[in-house]
Amino acid sequence: MTFQELGLCDALLRSTETLGFQQPTPVQEAAIPYMLHEERDLVALAQTGTGKTAAFGLPMLQYIASLPDDNQFITRALVLSPTRELCVQIAKDLRNYAQYMPQIRIVAVYGGEDIRKQLMQLDRTPQIIVATPGRLIDLLRRGKVSLDNIRYLVLDEADEMLDMGFQEDIETILQRTPDDRRTMLFSATMPADIAKIAGQYMHNAHEIQIGERNAGTENVEHIYYVCRAQERYLVLKRIVDLNPDIYAIVFCRTKAETQEIAEKLIKDGYSADALHGDLTQAARDGVMQRFRLHGVQILVATDVAARGLDVHNLTHVINYQLPDDPEVYTHRSGRTGRANQKGISVSIVHQRETRRIANLEKMLRRNFHREQIPSGIDVCKKQLFHYIARVQNADLTLMDENNILDGGLQEVVRMLDYLSKEEIIKRFVSLEFNRFLEYYQDAPDLNIPETKHERTRTNERGKAERGGRGKTVRLKINVGKSDNMTPKRFLGLVNDTTHDRTIAIGNIEIAKNYTFFDVYLDQKQKLIAAFRQWDDLQVQEVKGRRASDNDVSYKKDDKPRSKNKRENRDAPKERSSKGNWEKRSNVSSDKPWRSRR
Ligand code: ADP
Ligand code: MG
Repeated sequence: MTFQELGLCDALLRSTETLGFQQPTPVQEAAIPYMLHEERDLVALAQTGTGKTAAFGLPMLQYIASLPDDNQFITRALVLSPTRELCVQIAKDLRNYAQYMPQIRIVAVYGGEDIRKQLMQLDRTPQIIVATPGRLIDLLRRGKVSLDNIRYLVLDEADEMLDMGFQEDIETILQRTPDDRRTMLFSATMPADIAKIAGQYMHNAHEIQIGERNAGTENVEHIYYVCRAQERYLVLKRIVDLNPDIYAIVFCRTKAETQEIAEKLIKDGYSADALHGDLTQAARDGVMQRFRLHGVQILVATDVAARGLDVHNLTHVINYQLPDDPEVYTHRSGRTGRANQKGISVSIVHQRETRRIANLEKMLRRNFHREQIPSGIDVCKKQLFHYIARVQNADLTLMDENNILDGGLQEVVRMLDYLSKEEIIKRFVSLEFNRFLEYYQDAPDLNIPETKHERTRTNERGKAERGGRGKTVRLKINVGKSDNMTPKRFLGLVNDTTHDRTIAIGNIEIAKNYTFFDVYLDQKQKLIAAFRQWDDLQVQEVKGRRASDNDVSYKKDDKPRSKNKRENRDAPKERSSKGNWEKRSNVSSDKPWRSRR
C-alpha cells in the first residue's frame, strides 16, 4: 500500500516523500482512509513508535487544507497530549507534514512555559492547537481559545493522560467542543476508564487495534539481571561497559533516584544526563536536545518525562527499577526496537522481584531471558575489542592529506623502533584501557543464584522447550542419607561428574543408602557412563517402575542394611519438590565422594 492509494493530496504526498516515509505504517493504513472517507469516530490501540502522529495528522491536515481560504483564522482541530515534550513533538511533526501547506498554522500550548509567549502565538488564531489539558483549560478560562469550531479532536496517549490525572480536564474540554466533531482516541492500552470516555463522548466509534494488545514490540528482546538490591548501580555500570556504543534510556522510579543515578554516572565518567519534572523547562529542553543529537549516550529519566518522546535508534531501554504497573513496562520497552530495528529491554531486579518478571512474561506473552551479569573480565575483553575495532577503522585521511606533521610521524616511528610490535600495541592499548583494568581487576561476581521459584520457571520452560523428549527413566545411585547426601549435593555431584549442564535431573528422593532420581531416557547412557569414573559409585536403572511415579514404591530397593527398623524410620527421606527438574547452575558438590568409606 502506498500513501497515494490511501487518498492523500499532493501536498501531503510530497511532504511524506521529503520525510522519507516510503509506505504507510499499519496504523496509518487503517486510520487514514477511514478518516478521509468516513464520518465516524475512531479508537486506535497502538503502541508507541507505530506512527500515530501521521495517522491522525495527515487526514486532519488534508481536511483543513480543503477548506476555503476565508476560513483561515478559525481553530478547526485540537490535539490533546499528556506532556509538554509530546506537545512540542507533535506540533513539530505536524509542521513537517504541512510543509507544503503554507497557510496552515499550528500552535503548541503547554504548562511550564510562560503563558504570555503562548498567548502571543494565539493572537493569530491557528487552525490547529496542540495542548496539554491543564494549560488549555487555563486558556479557555481566559477566553483566549475558542473550541466552538473544532471539527477534529485527537486524544493522543489517552491512557497516559488519565494516569496523570487529566480525566476531569479532558471531560471539561470535550464538553466545550461541538457535538458534531470527530474524535480520534489513541492509546497503547485500553483500561476501563478509557473505554468509559470512549463510550460517553464518542459516537459509534470504529475501533482498530494494531499489533498484539499489551505486547512489547516484536523486535524487542527482553532480558534481566538478578542482583542484590544494593548492587543495582554496579550492575548498571557493567551493562553500560559491556555495550560501549550504548544509546539508552535508564528508567528510574523517582525524580530523586533519577538525579542520583545520573550524577553517579557522570561522576564515574559516563556520558549521561537526567530528565525529570523537577528540572526547569529550559533544562529539560537542553537535555532532550543533547540526547537526540547523541551528545549524551545515557538518559536517566522518569516515565512521565520520557513518555512519548521520539528518539530514534535506542539500543537499550534499561529498567533500573521495574515499574509497578506492567503497562508502564510496555511503554518503556516500546521506546526501543522501533521501525524494524532490534532493541533490548533490560531489567535489573533483585531476587524477590523475579516473580514480577514472571508476571510480565505472562502479560506480554514474551519470554524474558535471565542473563549472567558480566564479569570484570567479560567487560574488559569487550572494551578491548571495541577499542581495537576503532583502531582498525580509524580515519587516516586527515593525517595522510596534511603535511602539518612534516616528517614528525617518521620521527615517532624511529623513536619507537626499539619496541616490538606487541609492545607498541600493549602501550597504546594500556593508555586507553588501564582505567577499565584498574576498576575491574578485582571486581566481584555480582550474580546471585536462581531462586527456587525461578528455577521452577526455568525448568518448566525447559520442559516445554524440550517438547517431545518427554520420556524419562528412574535411576538410583548408591549414596544416600547416611552419606549426608542432600539434593543440592547430589546435583553438585552430577555436575562434577558429567560436566554437562544440559543433563536434566528430576524428582530427587534421598533414602538412607540410595538416591533416586529421574533423567530423560536419551540422557541416561551419558549419565551412567560418566559415573563409571568413580570406583565406588554405581548408577543403576530402577526397573519396572515409571519414572513419573511419585509414590515411593522403590522403597524395596532401598533395603535397610540395618535390621533396626527404628533407625530406618528416624532417617527421613529428603526430597525436592515434586516434579521439579533441577537446573544445576553454580551447584557443585562440596564433598569428595570418591573418598567415601
Ligand atoms: P507514535 O506516536 O505511535 O509513538 P510517531 O508518530 O511518533 O509514533 O512515529 C514514530 C517515528 O516513526 C517517527 O520518527 C516518525 O517520523 C516515523 N514514521 C511515522 N510514519 C512513518 C512511515 N510511514 N514511514 C517511516 N517512518 C515513519
Ligand atoms: Mg505519539
